[in-house]
Amino acid sequence: MKKTTTQSLSYPTINRPLPQEIDLLKDFQKRLPEFMTDKYQELENQIKRIDSGYHGELKIDGHLSTTLLPDPHFIFPGYHAKLSSKRYVQIDTLILTPSYILHLEIKNIRGKIELLQNPSRLKRTSNLIEEYFSCPITQLKRNHYALHLIFRKLSIELPPIYPALIFANRNCEILTSDTRVPIFFPLQIEDHISKLNQLPRILTKQQLTKIRQHLQKIESPYYQFDLAEKNGVGILQLKRGVICGTCNGLVRLNNRKWSCVECQRVEINPIPRTLQNLLQLSDDFQKPAFIREWLQLRSQKVLYRARKELKLEVHSHGKGMKYRFRT
Ligand SMILES: [Zn+2]
Repeated sequence: MKKTTTQSLSYPTINRPLPQEIDLLKDFQKRLPEFMTDKYQELENQIKRIDSGYHGELKIDGHLSTTLLPDPHFIFPGYHAKLSSKRYVQIDTLILTPSYILHLEIKNIRGKIELLQNPSRLKRTSNLIEEYFSCPITQLKRNHYALHLIFRKLSIELPPIYPALIFANRNCEILTSDTRVPIFFPLQIEDHISKLNQLPRILTKQQLTKIRQHLQKIESPYYQFDLAEKNGVGILQLKRGVICGTCNGLVRLNNRKWSCVECQRVEINPIPRTLQNLLQLSDDFQKPAFIREWLQLRSQKVLYRARKELKLEVHSHGKGMKYRFRT
């Protein structure tokens, strides 16, 4: 029988989690003393930026979920991995197919955009205000190189790897562009991908799975370190205890239930999320005895369980014991 070259295609399903950084910054904000109104506003701006980036990515996920991709395919919505102590890769959307690998950098900004070169920067003018951002093309090139480094170890003949820069906001006008990578608005993605879909299949299902598993194995969440100090806030100034996810109240354990003293909302198991946030605020929170006192936890068990749930590493024992993220 004649072998058919027609690709089997299907629509992808994408589940992008809410960035953990938003919860971290909100928790930090609620722990600030009342007089630090400027710091509060700075954190508010950071939250808005991250939230806007997230919504841009969701918008592109929406477009991708109505775009056919070769089977089998796999999408990483937000991929982060540490390659060495100083080198990491952070990709907004990574698409693996048997015929090509596509990595996207998504910008959700409005205004007039200029992609400046030599040195590379992104300039945005909106309401007569000029702002400069790091260059998304430089980011794409770094990611491109990082992907080659990652895949080199696998000794598999790879399909071509393509970068693309997507501007998700319809209220943006590109004044000066850059020809080094393809740049698209959301509605052009489908056309671009349908052209890529005509490329020959290079990977077998087994090879694609091997690549996917390797990417999952080295994947690590993005963590901040010493966020409080970086923002000029000493941890002794911060409000202690478990803070409510809804209001600014304290969450206390009463009759085996964690409930907010202000809004009475019951929270199931708030310790892992609190521990995850505190560890990013300052390295001082690595000491379990210190966190226990800070959170006013009567039993050691809840902290132990949270440590297990977060898969934290334990360094040394006894008084010098420390909890750290696996990175
Ligand atoms: Zn509350």
